[in-house]
Amino acid sequence: MSKNKLIYLFSEGNKSMKTLLGGKGANLAEMMSIGLPVPPGFTVTTEACNEYYSKGGTITQDLKSEIFKALSKIEEDTDKKFGDKLNPLLVSVRSGAVISMPGMMDTVLNLGLNDETVKGLSKKTDNERFALDSYRRFIQMFGDVVLKIEHHLFEKQLDQIKKRYNVTEDTELTIEALKELIDSYKQITKAETGREFPQEPKEQLLLAIQSVFDSWNNQRAKVYRDIHDIAHDLGTAVNIQAMVFGNMGEDSGTGVAFTRNPSNGEKEVYGEFLLNAQGEDVVAGIRTPKSIDQLEKDFPKAYKQFMEVSALLEKHYQDMQDIEFTVENKKLYLLQTRNGKRTAEAAVKIAVDMYNEKLITKKSALTRVEPNQIAHLLHPQIDLEQELKVLTKGLPASPGAATGELVFDSNEAEELSSQGKKVILVRPETTPDDIHGIVAAEGILTTRGGMTSHAAVVARGMGKPCVTGCDEARVDLDNQELKVNDKIIQKGEIVSIDGSTGNLIMGSVKLTDPGLNEECQKLLKWADEIESVGVRANADTPEDAKKAREFGATGIGLCRTEHMFMGTERLPKIQEMIISDSEIEREEALEKLLPYQEQDFYEILKAMDGYPTTIRLLDPPLHEFLPNVHSVKKDLDKLINQYGENSHQVEQQRQLLNKVRSLEESNPMLGFRGCRLGILYPEIYIMQAKAIARAAKTLVDEGYTPKPEIMIPLVGHDKELVILKEMIEDVIEKHTRSEHEQKLYHIGTMLELPRACVTADEIAEHAEFFSFGTNDLTQTALGYSRDDAEGKFLAHYMQNEIIPENPFMTIDQKGVGELITTAVDKASRTKPGIKLGVCGEHGGDSQSIEFFYKVGLNYVSCSPFRVPVARLSAAQAAL
Ligand code: ADP
Ligand code: MG
Ligand code: MG
Repeated sequence: MSKNKLIYLFSEGNKSMKTLLGGKGANLAEMMSIGLPVPPGFTVTTEACNEYYSKGGTITQDLKSEIFKALSKIEEDTDKKFGDKLNPLLVSVRSGAVISMPGMMDTVLNLGLNDETVKGLSKKTDNERFALDSYRRFIQMFGDVVLKIEHHLFEKQLDQIKKRYNVTEDTELTIEALKELIDSYKQITKAETGREFPQEPKEQLLLAIQSVFDSWNNQRAKVYRDIHDIAHDLGTAVNIQAMVFGNMGEDSGTGVAFTRNPSNGEKEVYGEFLLNAQGEDVVAGIRTPKSIDQLEKDFPKAYKQFMEVSALLEKHYQDMQDIEFTVENKKLYLLQTRNGKRTAEAAVKIAVDMYNEKLITKKSALTRVEPNQIAHLLHPQIDLEQELKVLTKGLPASPGAATGELVFDSNEAEELSSQGKKVILVRPETTPDDIHGIVAAEGILTTRGGMTSHAAVVARGMGKPCVTGCDEARVDLDNQELKVNDKIIQKGEIVSIDGSTGNLIMGSVKLTDPGLNEECQKLLKWADEIESVGVRANADTPEDAKKAREFGATGIGLCRTEHMFMGTERLPKIQEMIISDSEIEREEALEKLLPYQEQDFYEILKAMDGYPTTIRLLDPPLHEFLPNVHSVKKDLDKLINQYGENSHQVEQQRQLLNKVRSLEESNPMLGFRGCRLGILYPEIYIMQAKAIARAAKTLVDEGYTPKPEIMIPLVGHDKELVILKEMIEDVIEKHTRSEHEQKLYHIGTMLELPRACVTADEIAEHAEFFSFGTNDLTQTALGYSRDDAEGKFLAHYMQNEIIPENPFMTIDQKGVGELITTAVDKASRTKPGIKLGVCGEHGGDSQSIEFFYKVGLNYVSCSPFRVPVARLSAAQAAL
């Protein structure tokens, strides 16, 4: 015996009961409670679903009797009877997960029809065509969802009969054609399942409920949950609802609408509507639907009512809604509402607009945008200053530009993409079974379907460019080609799509960086108003520094100096330094590098005028600047051949070989690098400090305010810092002219070794700031070398849930996080208020940022392009 209430009538629920009733059920109940026209029904709870799983997939007697009890309530409300020959009640059986997974799970419509009730329905409505149309739809849907018959078998039959009767649209099928279709559907059922199509409505109902429960675990739903990080053990609710019919004829229809444009966020009801159609027709892209404005012409009353409902629902939920509705004989019914999925662009615009309309607060506006969505806004777009070979135009379903090879099949898209190829997936329409192809493709184009079609919704959710309803184009699957008017494009040819305009373009296109639009800047300014961790950028070049400022970074958290030694002019000079045997020779070589470094620092500090710039002194092992042993040896052999054993050239190459060998390390990550280099080769750090000081001096003279923070890497013992700090201070003293100038400098260290973290109190005595180098700290704390781990065992570890996440992307709170917390505590004891930051990949990761905020760090630092994401994450962490 179960104690829980397993079923709730729509009249008993409300929107706060999502966990129990699923999103769809809770919102249907809510809409009913605020007086909107919702066909009556009831919800089987997610708890009942989980009980079903725990009973090995059986519906208990208890649940069965509850179901039929609730059903009788609907019979009362509708004045119809389930299974009745004269006045049959038909229902839909609809999945309804807690977090919406559009189209991923199963739904059956028109349930309760059989050879007898179909006659009753026909008489009662005086519309035989409609009754037969509903029956053929039911057999097909039930056959597909419940009996697991390949749906293309039905579709093939439908196509054949359409051809035979010489019609192109489903709506043109005559009574005769429909009868024939039903017969052939029944034959398919018999052939495929070995039994007649189930005629008993109660059996139909229980089987359908069972299928909906089971559909939680179908492949595509699992894939969807993996992509969107939804837990696999939530289960689904099931909604059983009286049918209303959009397929009753020309006075009926069905539609989907967003209260605002989900692609660009414009404040306008954005909807699509199909006359004489049912449920899935719009989303499945059977015909390209009409815009909602059409509704105004055809059904002015229902249109007006719908516009009112749309405004009401948006106000009620204080968010943009995605609404499903049906018009039956000119009367409007609501079938679903939920917070609409939207593109990043739309999310930002809607949040800012709704604040301006006084619908939501600033804080609430800040929660309306997923920080990671912001990254989509920075995706390159098509440069309009070029000549584009536009083939045709469809609907701009999801913005962004994409270029790739044309493919027509989702498996093939996946295959090619796994080989590193870029593909554009082109389909007549997509179904939930195409989810892996959509994931793999750069962009998606469909020839049918509208802005609310499956492809459009899924692509927007993923931030992928998508064009739908491209109806001048025809997909020829047999010949694997796309026909656009009289042009033929073959599989494998390169095309581009522009999801912002709907253009399909031949060949590849030039892209531009879009930058942040006005609304986004506004939202991020609100984010900056929230007291939280600051956001700096990792930038090694003047260009990156400028980008960082443009994206709102308030400083550089990590400027790596090793990149400044690369390039055809600089590399030979550092090599010369490394190969030198005496200090004097090394100093001479370094002297040649000085002007380069000075110029770089000058420009970076200038771009960061007034903002702190953390410059890390040389960190990587020296061998990274030299060719590898193998290639040095090969060159040596060549030189011997050319000049002979005893030549000067060969002698030099031998020296190089010896040096390269002597620098070889079996574990360079833990080898001769970081401050260890600075201690053994002080002249390197001295040169770098000199370059910084000279650059700063020039800037001061020019009226700028450089704020260099010199950071010493890989310190493990306080002594290391003591030695190097003294040395650098000496240099700075020599190059500054006043105490005021000296105050511009700060010297600190990175905490990236466990020993440094646990002795942070000692190290803090000599440091003016700490920056957690979480990449190396993760490597050293976990004992994983990142380069090896990612390719070898990390994926397996994550799949098998040995570790919850990739620790190089999201900070390992229990381990690495504990080291950080310890260090923060200890450092603050020695030096209260010491400046603490993070540089490393984790600085741009939302979840990690939340943690860094909680432990009290002052700033995070990430790549310039992640700065906007981090600014929003930082604000959300503090809300
Ligand atoms: P999904 O979660 O995939 O959107 P739904 O349960 O919402 O599936 O149903 C699919 C389609 O069927 C929707 O367009 C919906 O409006 C329609 N539909 C569901 N129940 C009914 C009903 N009782 N009467 C008419 N249409 C319905
Ligand atoms: Mg569905
Ligand atoms: Mg729906």
